[in-house]
Amino acid sequence: MTHYLVVSPDEVRFYDGGGEYGLDPPEYGGCVATVEAPSKRAAIRLAIKHPDMGLWVHQQRGDGANPFTGLKATDMTCPHGLCCCELCATEDSCGCPECDAEWLAENPEEADGD
Ligand SMILES: [Zn+2]
Ligand SMILES: [Zn+2]
Repeated sequence: MTHYLVVSPDEVRFYDGGGEYGLDPPEYGGCVATVEAPSKRAAIRLAIKHPDMGLWVHQQRGDGANPFTGLKATDMTCPHGLCCCELCATEDSCGCPECDAEWLAENPEEADGD
């Protein structure tokens, strides 16, 4: 199984005061969900059931649109074969020590000295 990052297009409306999400002023953006799936296609199917994708699905269904339309799934496995998704990451590591080392080489100011 692989972790996929599934993102909606940048078209979600975050309703303002009185709306069910209570945000004010209204904002626009995409929904993002991380799911574990055997394929990209399965990842997108799982993502529309994910709570983090709920706003997107709600909006699409409200517009009579297909909630699968426009969703994109990205395999979060890094070039070293490890997963760098938000579920596998810790406070100190993206999930792969080699990616961490590469990132620190580019961002030496982020090294915490120990
Ligand atoms: Zn992962
Ligand atoms: Zn890596």
